[in-house]
Amino acid sequence: MVRKAQTRTVVITGGAGFIGSHLCERFLGEGRRVICVDNFLTGSMANIKPFFKNPRFSLIRHDVSKPIRITGAVEAIFHFASPASPPDYLKHPIKTMKVGSLGTHNTLGLAWAKRATMVMASTSEVYGDPEVHPQVETYWGNVNPIGPRGVYDEAKRFSEALTLAYHREHHVDVKIGRIFNTYGPRMRARDGRVIPNFIDQALKGQPLTVYGKGTQTRSFCYVDDLVEGFFRLSRAKTTGPVNLGNPNEYDMVDLAKLVIELTGAKSKLVYKPLPVDDPKRRCPNIALAKRLLNGWCPRVGLRQGLQTTIEYFRFIAA
Ligand code: NAD
Ligand code: UDP
Repeated sequence: MVRKAQTRTVVITGGAGFIGSHLCERFLGEGRRVICVDNFLTGSMANIKPFFKNPRFSLIRHDVSKPIRITGAVEAIFHFASPASPPDYLKHPIKTMKVGSLGTHNTLGLAWAKRATMVMASTSEVYGDPEVHPQVETYWGNVNPIGPRGVYDEAKRFSEALTLAYHREHHVDVKIGRIFNTYGPRMRARDGRVIPNFIDQALKGQPLTVYGKGTQTRSFCYVDDLVEGFFRLSRAKTTGPVNLGNPNEYDMVDLAKLVIELTGAKSKLVYKPLPVDDPKRRCPNIALAKRLLNGWCPRVGLRQGLQTTIEYFRFIAA
């Protein structure tokens, strides 16, 4: 039986990134002390600047692929450090593999030393280009280990394996959330993912770049819903991976048309080559999350979430 630390401190690696900054905000709102550990590879100071006025927030500027030192007791560690946008991990293939292997190892070592819960941010990419649809946690996936996306997919698969190894050998309390495409305020306008790309292009009156025929699908989860899922997961009695995402599935042409409608842009669509190994379909089966996380399910529809995200992009562009 693992003894829990008394002090209500959470460590969030990648806390200056898009999802990580929302987690920091949520845990500050819950009255916790939050230690954000980030090297700003893809994150930004602007994402966390408002938190510095809270005395319970602190930042350690650090690459978690190197050993992590934290003083004092820690209740939980949320390991969110990793490039996540395909252009980011294609630009940083070695750093991506290091943070998913050495970074996960260091984070697990910290969790073991602190007797803290380890919450790992995994991804729907562990399913690769899936042959089972919608994706269930029991499906082992269809990943090309040596393709360009392999650096991210295999690092996350290794992270999951190592996380469960620490649970089995050292009895660390672990949780693994497999995140499906999540979007919302604080994404970088040019991080290369489809929603920021389309909104940025629409707001500039540029053509929206649809890759391939645009018939490939994704299922988009608004960030607040995802953060609620992780909050519940961190306290759930489970160790295996749990899908967290919104099961409403859209193809990229329909997404582009919706962004044009909601921004009021006059943009057209322009078709570009499909990236190598781009998954054709992706949609989470969230039955397990619903069962384990007190009926958790996403509340924010794509139209509403996009409206909020578009407002944010207009605000940062102003
Ligand atoms: P992001 O790029 O906005 O955030 C990642 C953060 O990690 C950044 O602040 C970056 O500076 C930091 N980071 C990267 N390498 C680091 C290192 N070695 N040491 C310390 N900090 C480091 O991406 P995001 O969308 O917020 O993704 C966060 C996590 O969620 C990632 O682990 C990602 O794999 C996972 N995820 C996200 C999505 C999504 O749709 N957003 C989907 C699946 C999984
Ligand atoms: N995509 C697109 N236009 C863009 C960016 C992405 O059509 O400007 C497509 C991409 O090929 C993929 C989907 O949108 O099929 C989602 O891409 P994203 O990079 O957001 O995330 P992924 O799910 O591929 O990790």
